[in-house]
Amino acid sequence: MPVLLDDLVTLALARQVPTREQALALLESEDDDLLDVVAAAGRVRRHFFANRVKLNLIVNMKSGLCPEDCAYCSQRRGSAADVLQYNWIDPALAADTADRAVAGGAKRVCLVASGRGPTDRDVQRVAETVRAIKARHPNVEVCTSLGLLTAERAERLLAAGVYAYNHNLNTSEANYGDICTTHTYADRVDTVRVAKDAGLSPCSGAIFGMGETDADVVDLAFSLRRSDPDSVPVNFLIPFEGTPLGGEWQLTPQRCLRILALFRFVFPDSEVRIAGGREIHLRSLQPLGLHLANSIFLGDYLTSEGQAGSADLQMIADAGFVVEGQEDETLPAARRDLVTLRRRGPGTALPANA
Ligand code: SF4
Repeated sequence: MPVLLDDLVTLALARQVPTREQALALLESEDDDLLDVVAAAGRVRRHFFANRVKLNLIVNMKSGLCPEDCAYCSQRRGSAADVLQYNWIDPALAADTADRAVAGGAKRVCLVASGRGPTDRDVQRVAETVRAIKARHPNVEVCTSLGLLTAERAERLLAAGVYAYNHNLNTSEANYGDICTTHTYADRVDTVRVAKDAGLSPCSGAIFGMGETDADVVDLAFSLRRSDPDSVPVNFLIPFEGTPLGGEWQLTPQRCLRILALFRFVFPDSEVRIAGGREIHLRSLQPLGLHLANSIFLGDYLTSEGQAGSADLQMIADAGFVVEGQEDETLPAARRDLVTLRRRGPGTALPANA
């Protein structure tokens, strides 16, 4: 185990991906080795993100009554979960919610709506909402998560001031047909690409606790890495009664931490966010998660409640971390520097790089 962890840290500090064998060995490690795993991945987290924790707040813009059938989702077609159901909220209400988020330390506001994907009218509504939020908080990052996206709608969101677009891959390609039949894994990969190509910061992650094997976890992590997201939400299934996965309580805090450690090693300099299920699956080990992820959601989730925002802030302070300010850059500068626009070869006066 010490050799594996040293090798993983060396690779991650060089922004290199572990091998499949290394990733599997990490997931298979014993509980006795857990603190060593957290310490090793924590070195990578501190190297790229110091002791900053980015806070994000979800605004559920439209809740329930989705025509899609994602098995994990309380808003799915036929869900018997007793969740709030409402149509698009008013832009002013979303802006009021953003006020509370920013006052609580949130740097990013995530506008989420149920549904297969936005219509033109939906994009218009979201654009009005983004303008209302940005008028009050020009520096807050606005992310939208609206489902499958076309290039034209992505460009309209960008023009409206949207910074990021979230679309999770959720589970491995091999498992995807077991959790959803109304759209495909390829649809999801395509939307992440569309958002990225439009200039939106890609946010794409996973849900664990749905019966996946270690091989599925690794497949998904590597597939996500190929999409090269700037931020990677790691959800742990919230098993809502009234959904097909309502009885699935498979996760232990130790497994959640090993998965988070793996994601830190696979995404050393990307924003890894502990998302839904943090409180119910990590439970008293939540502070250890902060040594792996550099970002969490503050407050409530889409249809379930999180712990009090004040408890999140206390936990961050107690664990020796600080809330990332709006003026701070989340991603290491070198990550942006990886993309260099070509200014040599064809189309320039300079010779080609060959
Ligand atoms: S598309 Fe989104 S809102 Fe609809 S069922 Fe799937 S996860 Fe839930």
